[in-house]
Amino acid sequence: MDGGAVSRPQQITVLGATGSIGLSTLDVIARHPERYQVFALSGFTRVSELLALCVRHAPRFAVVPESGAARGLQDDLRAAGLSTRVLVGEEGLCQVASDPQVDAVMAAIVGAAGLRPTLAAVEAGKKILLANKEALVMSGALFMQAVRKSGSVLLPIDSEHNAIFQCMPQDFARGLGAVGVRRILLTASGGPFRQTPMAELAHVSPEQACAHPNWSMGRKISVDSASMMNKGLELIEACWLFDATPSQVEVVIHPQSVIHSLVDYIDGSVLAQLGNPDMRTPIANALAWPERIDSGVAPLDLFAIARLDFQAPDEERFPCLRLARQAAEAGNSAPAMLNAANEVAVAAFLDGRVRYLEIASIIEEVLNLEPVVAVDDLEAVFTADAKARVLAGQWLSRHGR
Ligand code: NDP
Ligand code: MG
Repeated sequence: MDGGAVSRPQQITVLGATGSIGLSTLDVIARHPERYQVFALSGFTRVSELLALCVRHAPRFAVVPESGAARGLQDDLRAAGLSTRVLVGEEGLCQVASDPQVDAVMAAIVGAAGLRPTLAAVEAGKKILLANKEALVMSGALFMQAVRKSGSVLLPIDSEHNAIFQCMPQDFARGLGAVGVRRILLTASGGPFRQTPMAELAHVSPEQACAHPNWSMGRKISVDSASMMNKGLELIEACWLFDATPSQVEVVIHPQSVIHSLVDYIDGSVLAQLGNPDMRTPIANALAWPERIDSGVAPLDLFAIARLDFQAPDEERFPCLRLARQAAEAGNSAPAMLNAANEVAVAAFLDGRVRYLEIASIIEEVLNLEPVVAVDDLEAVFTADAKARVLAGQWLSRHGR
């Protein structure tokens, strides 16, 4: 399947094609037509952008959330002379994620909505390029069990986790464990509010929160980066991907976003992966793994960067990081609750209904109100997710939002 230019091109499904990761993935794919062909693309609200992507990449399938949009897109595709078939909803997403012809699935839908299609790809034994960290955070144990059972190859797209993956012992990818690894050092830029005076944080706007200093990303993950919930979700993600305990993962603020994370070995060696902050590097790494391909990213200019800084995170400034670490330690239903409460709170913040500092208050209240329970199947995960959404909704109505 990884034979490169001599074998047939790999068939790739891109879930969340209209988003930031989806577009970067298609940019890398388009650089290597001899290696990769687009099998399916999905969009949600940006249907005209999806049409343009279909015209460019001529996929076999396109997926949209409902039948009205599907009919319109199908007509437009036909008018453009394309034979792309339009599928609808979660069923359509699961179908293109698990189709026998597909080699690899880029899971780049944002949030809990990506869980079922990503799991469908896992269960079908596909190579999974995992950007949708919320899916793994919600269902970690079940997700990893499904990966082991199907023999699916799971490759992290999150820049930090892709960096850690690259710094792991060579045999790690063959399932031989993290031999000799002492700690994982998960780097974080600190986002746009790293140095904002605490008093000003009460009044920051969604636009300020989304103005990330180093990365250009979708709006939800941009707010998560500002609150450092993103790093909290990544801590949980790292524990599952690299079989680590929460205490083995240390968060390090590194404002330049040049070192994407590090692995500390028991002999004192610390391995790091560096690169310009451009998601096409981890995407190309995962697409071609274990080979290497051109990603279109400019070479790193260390002289222009000149210095690399590090500092410990301040949990008073970033309470979401503390809440995520607590959820990581509690395990079971706690990460799914944390994730769902965060999704509701961030959506309300982006809508102008809650203030930035209230995001953490909502999540903390939800976690305090609902006891942690075991999650033995997917239904239990979605029950925890739904309960957290109800409780977060109650917070909103109690506060008149
Ligand atoms: P975007 O918001 O840019 O894109 C999200 C994609 O998901 C879009 O294609 C969107 O469709 C689709 N989508 C949104 N809601 C739904 C839904 N309910 N059902 C089906 N599809 C939906 O996000 P990003 O690309 O930034 O992030 C995607 C994932 O990758 C997230 O989990 C994020 O945490 C992760 N990630 C992103 C990084 C980045 O640099 N951007 C870095 C590391 C991880 P539409 O746009 O048509 O509405
Ligand atoms: Mg990341």
